[in-house]
Amino acid sequence: MESFEWQQATSFENAATSATHTTTEAMLGTQGKPVASQAMLIKAGGVDLLDLMKEGLVSPRRLIDINHLSEFQSISEDADGGFTIGALATLAQIAAHSGVGKYFPALVQTVTAAASPQIRNRATLGGNLLQRPRCWYLRSPAHHCLRKGGEHCFAYAGDNRYHAVFANHDGCAIVHPSTPATALLAFQAQIKCVSAQGAQRVIPIDDFFMLPSRDPRHENILQAGELITAVKLPAPHPAHRSAYLQLSEKAAFDWPLAAVAAVFVIDHNDICQQARIVLGSVSPTPRRAQEAENILTGAKIDPDNARTAAEAAITTATPLSGNAYKLPLLSALISRTILKAASCESPHERLL
Ligand SMILES: Cc1cc2nc3c(=O)[nH]c(=O)nc-3n(C[C@H](O)[C@H](O)[C@H](O)COP(=O)(O)OP(=O)(O)OC[C@H]3O[C@@H](n4cnc5c(N)ncnc54)[C@H](O)[C@@H]3O)c2cc1C
Ligand code: SF4
Repeated sequence: MESFEWQQATSFENAATSATHTTTEAMLGTQGKPVASQAMLIKAGGVDLLDLMKEGLVSPRRLIDINHLSEFQSISEDADGGFTIGALATLAQIAAHSGVGKYFPALVQTVTAAASPQIRNRATLGGNLLQRPRCWYLRSPAHHCLRKGGEHCFAYAGDNRYHAVFANHDGCAIVHPSTPATALLAFQAQIKCVSAQGAQRVIPIDDFFMLPSRDPRHENILQAGELITAVKLPAPHPAHRSAYLQLSEKAAFDWPLAAVAAVFVIDHNDICQQARIVLGSVSPTPRRAQEAENILTGAKIDPDNARTAAEAAITTATPLSGNAYKLPLLSALISRTILKAASCESPHERLL
């Protein structure tokens, strides 16, 4: 690893004015080679950024540490019944929060399943959403692939067993690495940001991530000098229920092969009034399974229509040479997550 300067940010605004690049831009600038750059980058928990530096994929001149800014470490219940999670709240903090656990169990299930206890104690929610993909060609200094500014995707003709089975034919076939993002999309979270000029914006999570068809080099719409300050969870519907399941090769210290988060609003006649089902680890962004949502909305959820919905969700998949095994696995996982979410208790007393 190259030597680098260290700046202790005094505020998010101070960090935003000091940061010159996003990590994505800094990696594009290295042409895939471990060369030192002038980039000054934001560091939160440092789990992903330090990995990239140790791998020689990015060599910034300076790290701007924001991890100690206590104002952005907290989780609070809002007057409207929603919750605001500071960008620097750790995955462990979210997992242990009783209010988030009560009203957003699928989110807690994602963070509890992520990585390992040591990593969850360090990893922040903001950094988790902005971690770079795990594609082994992206993580290899020897492969200057399209997402790093090169010309080719090495996964198409290479080893693509962990790659996307949806939206994978636009130059890049990554899967999005954040598992909390699946639940956040199911709960319609909003990403709160501040720019170097102090301008604040709130981005619906549906608009935050980018598919390769729009830009194969960036995973999200965040600009250099723009920081995530918090994630807002809107007040949940009084009759909502949620669940998350994932399948991994290892029980811990690993990313999933496939993941599913489901949020339903179910009325007192057991009819599903609203459904949001999000697939993780199978597409370059967390992916809404709208075909499945349409089948379940207006119906009483049971094993038969859960299976039909799961089959509908995978009909548009376009597996690559080495990852068709994900489809039966994903279908079973969707069906199980639907039934798990539908059968759990609503956290509220009041029903529709
Ligand atoms: C073995 C292992 C297993 C893992 N398994 C999982 C898993 O199952 N699911 C999962 O989701 N993750 C998993 N992870 C990834 C881990 O959760 C992330 O690396 C971590 O959450 C990153 O958070 P951080 O605070 O350390 O970010 P950092 O490494 O500090 O930052 C990551 C990126 O975000 C930028 N950044 C950080 N905070 C902000 C901010 N507030 N505003 C703007 N930019 C910012 C940084 O510049 C950097 O580019 C795993 C990691 C390991 C090592
Ligand atoms: S899948 Fe994307 S990140 Fe991986 S080699 Fe292809 S272009 Fe690069």
